[in-house]
Amino acid sequence: MSQRIVFAAGVLACLVVTVLRPGSGGAWYDETHLAIAKAAGWRKWYHAAGADIAKLKLGEVERHNHYANNACGARITPAAVFAQAERYDRLDPQGHLYGAILGALRGYRDFRARGLYADYHLAYAAHYLGDLSQPLHHIPHNDYNRRHHAATDGIVDRGALKQAKRIALYPIVIASEEDLAREIARIAQLSLDLACTLQREDRILAAAEAWVQLGHSASLLRAVLDWLEREGKAEKRAGETKDPG
Ligand SMILES: [Zn+2]
Repeated sequence: MSQRIVFAAGVLACLVVTVLRPGSGGAWYDETHLAIAKAAGWRKWYHAAGADIAKLKLGEVERHNHYANNACGARITPAAVFAQAERYDRLDPQGHLYGAILGALRGYRDFRARGLYADYHLAYAAHYLGDLSQPLHHIPHNDYNRRHHAATDGIVDRGALKQAKRIALYPIVIASEEDLAREIARIAQLSLDLACTLQREDRILAAAEAWVQLGHSASLLRAVLDWLEREGKAEKRAGETKDPG
């Protein structure tokens, strides 16, 4: 009897650890995600935390879209970003955050081309672009990650939306998926290298470092929005010229 209780308690403890595992895609907290999208000028910035809400019901399938495990010293290539896109919305414990950005935007462009309401796909992309700058989403859920993940997620969260103007944007131009994959790989590399520095120095991300990271996410989201807008206008023009009347 007592053995059964011990066994049941063990199973319960495992379940609690699995469900509450903070590094399995907690990501920047909500207000930080909203601040990134607002700084980027997305008119539906208030959707940017939605992908984390989806995790509550979708579990692992959604969670695996929010991080990518890399070894320190690894080189992240555009080819790896494309390969991950095939695993979007699939179970894959190594994670595929980089491909999820492509996957969500493919969903957006497909819906838009078919005249469907596409903004929820963009909400996922905006969220994943936010996770791209969270350094601890690029390394495995190791001891360092476990100890510091929650604090890192919340490092600038309180009042972040009010301070969204602190997020400094820089120009990025995207005209194709290839351009986008290259920029995702570039920012992923910066974030991975930062995570490995933090780990080596066994310290938590500084607030000043966090704001710089958020600037990478917001700049790339801005570039994506500009690209989609140009593409949308071109699609419209093409539609008009095809129109016989
Ligand atoms: Zn996330």
